[in-house]
Amino acid sequence: MITLQGTGVGGGIVVGRAVVLESGLFDIPRFHIAPSQREGEHLRLRRAIATVRDELVAIVAHLPQDAPPEAKALVEVHGMILDDPSLAGPVFEAIEAHAQNAEWAFASQAEHLAAQFGQLEDPYLRERGRDVMQVAERVLKALSGSRRPLQREEGDEPFIFVAHDIAPADMLQLKNAGGFAIDLGGTASHSAILARSMNVPAVVGLQDAAQRVRDDDWVILDGTAGVLIVAPDETVLREYRERMALERLEQKKLERLIGVATFTRDGVPVTLQANIERPEEAIQACDLGAGGIGLFRTEFLFMNRAELPGEDEQYEAYRAALRAMKGRPVTIRTLDVGADKALSSTDRTGTPAVSPNPALGQRAIRYSLAEPRIFLTQLRAILRAASHGPVRLLIPMLAHGHEIDQALAMVAQARSQLRDRGLPDAPAIAVGGMIEVPAAALTVGLFARRLDFLSIGTNDLIQYTLAIDRADHAVASLYDPFHPAVIRLVAQTIRAAQRAGKPVAVCGEMAGDLEATRMLLGMGLTDFSMQSASLLRIKREILDCDVSALRPHVGRLVNSDDPVKVRAALDRLKSAN
Ligand code: PEP
Ligand code: MG
Repeated sequence: MITLQGTGVGGGIVVGRAVVLESGLFDIPRFHIAPSQREGEHLRLRRAIATVRDELVAIVAHLPQDAPPEAKALVEVHGMILDDPSLAGPVFEAIEAHAQNAEWAFASQAEHLAAQFGQLEDPYLRERGRDVMQVAERVLKALSGSRRPLQREEGDEPFIFVAHDIAPADMLQLKNAGGFAIDLGGTASHSAILARSMNVPAVVGLQDAAQRVRDDDWVILDGTAGVLIVAPDETVLREYRERMALERLEQKKLERLIGVATFTRDGVPVTLQANIERPEEAIQACDLGAGGIGLFRTEFLFMNRAELPGEDEQYEAYRAALRAMKGRPVTIRTLDVGADKALSSTDRTGTPAVSPNPALGQRAIRYSLAEPRIFLTQLRAILRAASHGPVRLLIPMLAHGHEIDQALAMVAQARSQLRDRGLPDAPAIAVGGMIEVPAAALTVGLFARRLDFLSIGTNDLIQYTLAIDRADHAVASLYDPFHPAVIRLVAQTIRAAQRAGKPVAVCGEMAGDLEATRMLLGMGLTDFSMQSASLLRIKREILDCDVSALRPHVGRLVNSDDPVKVRAALDRLKSAN
């Protein structure tokens, strides 16, 4: 038995049989060719590229009905890389000038391009080098004529696909995939994004799993802990099977709470909403009894694709979320790109888009105001969708009052553009702002007065208050949601919103963190928005709380400067009823 540690992408635990996918990048033949063979090598390469192009077209044409909506775009990105002259152009030259065989020349050029991406600071852009290598792998396989079928026969146990790397296009062909274990990549890799959309357990960054696992090995994949256990002994296998059964049992018990109204023991009503990245997720949120969508991260509609979504496509996506929520409000956040959520690997001139410090750069509302056409397109789509149900508009990462003015002016402009088209007037919608920059939290009165509602983004508020890059593993241990400075800013924001008579929610991870529930209730919060998977667990906790008993304890906790005392006070909250 061996245990390999990687980074968990989520999805829980699965026990199954391993299917190890071969990599075209191993054992690349390297030899010099005679001048008389050059033409033949050119031809072989052209044919291989044509074969891969046909394969990609066929994959798009045969995408399963239930494939995630971004699947097509992901495959198309690979098509664009394949046809990009900077990939194949230098390969033809190397065959000519250095007498290299096609495989050698192609692999070298792909490695060179991928290395260029690898030097970029932005983790998302770095991952794009993997796309180049995935395309290269296809071409190399086509050159060698080996295409091992990916499909496996149906069996009782799920198949867990183990790969050095796997292209999203290939993942989509694996119909009975129970999970993915991948050597390369981080949580922002396309493969990780797709695994999440497919809702199966996945672990990335395993380094050498593809070499250490054999076909048909029994494996346990824990997508939460980021662990792959190969050839587990009977005891471990039994333990994990029990854990899976317990997880299922616990889930069943929690499901009994779906129809139960959320009130604390002393009768305070609490709204529990869901965060979604894609409109289909609203169906699950509604099934789990979410009171609305508190945060629709629209940037996921824009990522990993060759072209940005147009107004109609966005309108359909927003309308789909509204329809799924059956009359409950949907809070649509405008584009929050930048930092670890770059739009694409290159800017529109084709050069890699690098910012010296992306988290402090042109992200979120700063990007939207700098790109008015993109912003107006999104606003028009949102306004049009608003005639199908209750929509709230949320502006990310505000720090300045003038950003509110500009955003509101853009909303008015989008509205008049629709009017000019002869469309009926879009209904009035509430416009709120995210409080996720300390500057906004410290001057929150201004934001509370001018906006219709506030939503606290604790993920960024923690990052910017503590100066800890939330995507950097090296400082992850310092990322502390319960640092006294963070607690004070959250409490202050809730208080200021209430004083101004404006609704306030928390939509960062803190809202779905059981450790924080009692503290937030004691601060006066009554609106929580979180990933759907946490809704029922948080509801169970809220049903057990007495806000009046929590309030004095939380008052003291908020005034403490001492992290140790804060932790002790948090512990005491567990029994304050
Ligand atoms: C946050 O910052 O807490 C938030 C909800 O926004 P995101 O995680 O999308 O940055
Ligand atoms: Mg944020």
